[in-house]
Amino acid sequence: MKIFKTSSDMRAWSDSMHKAGETISFVPTMGYLHEGHLSLMEQGTNISSALVVSIFVNPTQFGENEDLDAYPTNIERDLNLIKSKGAKAAFLPDRKEIYPENYQTYVTLEQLPNHLCGLSRPVHFRGVATIVSKLFNIVRPDAAIFGTKDFQQLQVIRQLNRDLNFGINIIGAPIVRESDGLAMSSRNAYLKPDQRDSALSLSKACSKVKEMVKAGEKNASRIKSHVKEFIESFPDTQIDYLSICNPDTLNEVEEIDREVLFALAVQVGRARLIDNILV
Ligand code: AMP
Repeated sequence: MKIFKTSSDMRAWSDSMHKAGETISFVPTMGYLHEGHLSLMEQGTNISSALVVSIFVNPTQFGENEDLDAYPTNIERDLNLIKSKGAKAAFLPDRKEIYPENYQTYVTLEQLPNHLCGLSRPVHFRGVATIVSKLFNIVRPDAAIFGTKDFQQLQVIRQLNRDLNFGINIIGAPIVRESDGLAMSSRNAYLKPDQRDSALSLSKACSKVKEMVKAGEKNASRIKSHVKEFIESFPDTQIDYLSICNPDTLNEVEEIDREVLFALAVQVGRARLIDNILV
C-alpha cells in the first residue's frame, strides 16, 4: 500500500492509475478507525479496482469550543487496518499541506447547513464541504463512500457534488452499530463506563420512533415530546436537537405522511453523539 503525504504525490498517483484503466473509490476519514469505517472500505474495494483512504482531522470543521485538540488518534493501527482492507493507497496530509499560509477559499451551502447539526455547529459544514471538495480534487475518485450515520453530511456532499459538477458517484453506507445498538463513533472513546447506558438512549430513541410511527402515530410534535422525556430519563444526557424532517431538504415535518428522517444529537458527558433512522 502506498502512503502519500503531499497533494501532488497523491494526485500524480491517481492520474497514473486512471491512465492505466483503474477505477478509484475513496473513503475520507478523520482516523481512529472502527468497524463503521471498515464497512465503507469494504464497499470501496467491491466497486473499484483501487481504494484510497484518507486520514485528516480537519480543523476547519471544528468550532472554537469543540474537541479538535482532544480528537483521538492512532495512525499506526489505522494504517494496518486500511491495509488489511486491501486499499491501494492512504493519504495522510498534515494541516499545512491542506491549509497553507494565506489559504482563503471555502465552500458554503445556502440551505442544508441551516438544520440539525448545523444549528449548533455553525462552521461545521463549511469545513466539511471545503475539505471534501479539496480531497475530491486531489484524489479524483470515481466513487466516494460516506456513512449515513452522518446523514446531514452525506446530503451536503451529494449537493456539492451536483452543484460543483464533480461527477463522482456518491454512495451512502448503512450505520454500523455495536451489539447493544450504539452507533459506532470515534467519539465513543470519550464515554466513561457509567455513561454507556445513557449513550444507548439514542439508538433506543430511534427504535421508539419507528415503533410509534408503525403504530400509526403521525404527529411529529407528540413523538418528539415522548422521546424527549425518554432521553432525559437517562443521567448525564443533554439533548441538542430532536428532528423529524424531510430527508432531502431536512425541513421539519409536522404531519408524517411520507418517509421521514428522525435525527438526534445528544451530549452524553464529554461526547456529543448523533444517530438517525429513516421511517
Ligand atoms: P469520521 O472519521 O468520523 O469523519 O467518519 C468518516 C466516515 O465514516 C464518514 O463517512 C462517516 O459517516 C462514516 N462513519 C462513521 N461512523 C460510522 C458508522 N457507525 N457506520 C457507518 N459509517 C460510519
